[in-house]
Amino acid sequence: AIEVRGLHKAFGALEVLRGIDFSVARGEVVCVIGPSGSGKSTLLRCVNLLEEPTAGRITVAGTEVTDPEVDIDRVRRRIGMVFQSFNLFPHLTALENLTIAQRRVLRRDRPTAARIARDQLARVGLGDKEAAYPAQLSGGQQQRVAIARALAMDPELMLFDEPTSALDPELVGDVLAVMRALARDGMTMLVVTHEMGFAREVADRVVFMDGGLVVEEGTPGQVVGAPRHERTRAFLSRVL
Ligand code: ATP
Ligand code: MG
Repeated sequence: AIEVRGLHKAFGALEVLRGIDFSVARGEVVCVIGPSGSGKSTLLRCVNLLEEPTAGRITVAGTEVTDPEVDIDRVRRRIGMVFQSFNLFPHLTALENLTIAQRRVLRRDRPTAARIARDQLARVGLGDKEAAYPAQLSGGQQQRVAIARALAMDPELMLFDEPTSALDPELVGDVLAVMRALARDGMTMLVVTHEMGFAREVADRVVFMDGGLVVEEGTPGQVVGAPRHERTRAFLSRVL
């Protein structure tokens, strides 16, 4: 579903990604781990062209997004993205946060958009919160609304960038449970996370990045359980 070949990204003289190769198959869950500044967010942002790669090829769901001719809005429509900050519209209710893009981007009529919104809010355990405004919800609930909002757009794959790292510890579990259920339902997921428990339990593969390179990748048992590289071991000893 995602294929990245020879991806480079520089900001001026700063080389942030220095030749990244990896792929995510349909239905696969891949977790990206690595130290702060290693380029994880930049990698994710290149996948949906929020950042323009300096070099390399990225294909998403059969479309080469790095092709200069590509209609990137069409591609982005098929990619759900969830960030650390929830980016909900504060003046809209949970339900309205889920219907607005469905109506504007997918041109769904009001009843259809509302029905899908309710289904997705129920799926993330917030069926009773459709009338709540973001300020009336906990951080974990807001993040689940953000996930439901992405799901309401029928994405072919989901990108997550540290979706739980802004949350109070007691709220992390509910969000991870939603992501775990999504993985079980067969969603293709690329997840940047510091949650090693989640990576071990849910990921099909773990990619360890450092200094803009993939240092090591494999099953969670290999990368988290029995890392081969010293840099991976040093990182894990700090986070585990
Ligand atoms: P963290 O774990 O802290 O989120 P990360 O692995 O996601 O780190 P990135 O956010 O991808 O790291 O950043 C990698 C490097 O690129 C950092 O040195 C950062 O300062 C730099 N960088 C990121 N975005 C920009 C930008 N728009 N302009 C200049 N430098 C940038
Ligand atoms: Mg980051």
